[in-house]
Amino acid sequence: MLVTIDQSSGFCWGVVRTVEIAEETLNNIEDNNVYILGQIIHNPKETDRLEQKGLKTISYEDLQNINPKNSKVLIRAHGEPPSTYESAKKLGIEIIDATCPLVTSLQNRVIKFHQQDYQIVIFGKKEHAEVIGLRGVCNDECIVVKSVEDVISSVDFTKKTVLISQTTMDKNTFYAVKTTIQENISKTLLIEDTKDFFIAKDTLCRAVYGREDKLKEFAMSNDIMIFVAGRNSSNGKGLFNTCKSVNTKSYFIEDIKEINNDWFIGAEKVGITGATSTPQWYMEKVKNEIESIN
Ligand code: SF4
Repeated sequence: MLVTIDQSSGFCWGVVRTVEIAEETLNNIEDNNVYILGQIIHNPKETDRLEQKGLKTISYEDLQNINPKNSKVLIRAHGEPPSTYESAKKLGIEIIDATCPLVTSLQNRVIKFHQQDYQIVIFGKKEHAEVIGLRGVCNDECIVVKSVEDVISSVDFTKKTVLISQTTMDKNTFYAVKTTIQENISKTLLIEDTKDFFIAKDTLCRAVYGREDKLKEFAMSNDIMIFVAGRNSSNGKGLFNTCKSVNTKSYFIEDIKEINNDWFIGAEKVGITGATSTPQWYMEKVKNEIESIN
């Protein structure tokens, strides 16, 4: 049985950057008081590794109880709303900002459109950390949709509108949402050309969607696919569906213990891949485990 790790898998550059900032901060602070608001990335294995190095995962409520002296609080790649920075400032806590630059640029776009009085439509999940940050930069004056049905029930088609997306959402649904808004604005305002009333920005992250074609190719070239990711990883769910769409023998695991030996009966080629938050070292571990079944 040949077991191969997908060469295009592993951390995206935004996650690499966040993890590097966390490690650098942990190495350079006395007393090891490095905190992070929420799980650093949606992967329990990497979170455990960094926690063993001293990173402490905290909630917003915990922020109030930190001793600001000699402590630092990291902002993860998903970003935070302005209220988090304001609270930290009031409490005298030093922030280390590891927001992915793509998310920062997305927040800046939302600020710009908000200042220009656009109706802001965000294609995303309302309670996802990245969307909470985006909602925060426009004082929650936006509409969050995750389907065409949501668009019909919540968007006002008489208003000047901009559509943007959470970076890790599904591409096809984004374009269906875009078409729905465009058609409805056109119908409501009785105009053919909607460009003065509607702007759609495809802000889906290429680190996720640039991988789709290569992932399909890799999944088709193997008999069995093992997809390794945290269960709460948004891009993990999307990429797994891509994998499964071309190889029905695709299995999602978060932990090595979930591997079932029966999956490999009769298989000659096994592929291992993961989300943009799946560490390479854990996929190596999975590979060794499967090879030992051999
Ligand atoms: S998936 Fe894209 S937006 Fe998200 S952290 Fe990675 S590079 Fe940044």
